[in-house]
Amino acid sequence: MVDIAASLQSVRADLDHCLQQARRDASGLSLLAVSKKRTADEIRQAIACGQREFGESYVQEAVAKVKELAGEDICWHFIGPVQSNKTRDIAAHFDWVHSVEREKIARRLDQQRPDNLPPLNVCLQVNISHEQSKSGLEPDDVAALARLVITLPRLKLRGLMAIPAAETDPQQQRRVFHQVRLLFEALRQEFPAMDTLSMGMSGDYCAAIAEGSTVVRIGTAIFGPRQ
Ligand SMILES: *Cc1c(COP(=O)(O)O)cnc(C)c1O
Repeated sequence: MVDIAASLQSVRADLDHCLQQARRDASGLSLLAVSKKRTADEIRQAIACGQREFGESYVQEAVAKVKELAGEDICWHFIGPVQSNKTRDIAAHFDWVHSVEREKIARRLDQQRPDNLPPLNVCLQVNISHEQSKSGLEPDDVAALARLVITLPRLKLRGLMAIPAAETDPQQQRRVFHQVRLLFEALRQEFPAMDTLSMGMSGDYCAAIAEGSTVVRIGTAIFGPRQ
């Protein structure tokens, strides 16, 4: 069994180390604990260590945990592919969605966001390593969707999310994250309120931090391998 407190502590220490190497301040980075396929009890163990931001990818599983943990002070992020028949649940139970990639999905999330909740924070997912992942917008198409999202009153455009193709060489990892960063900086000319660059997972977070990531999404390094 994984000692979640210990692994969380070591991930945090390593994030600090990566930030120092990048000469970045710790206040510019947040750690999203990716809790898909984990139990509510595992999440509670992370909460006991001060973790507050959690990421989920599967709507049904996530909504059950959101309900079970309703008494806790948690910020919930949806990071998986968004199907249009799931937007209502996502709009009602999450604070953030990192994986918006279609106009139809953006419109539905906006229409279905309950009035008693603040606007839903949205990142647009960009398909940066075209060869592998089919999820995400082509870089050239991101600005058009961003222009729509800023007109939707129940959504708040926060930034970009990317999942590069798996790559173990840190130089190669950085090369791809650098492309995301350049796109982000270009978009910020037109959308200055964008403040979030969601990139970096267990195997590549240090490279992402070197390239300006503001949110790393880490599952395995905290909770151990998933079934
Ligand atoms: C599962 C997942 C992660 C976490 O991956 P690990 O390799 O376990 O850290 C991060 N982002 C997304 C979008 C995921 O689906």
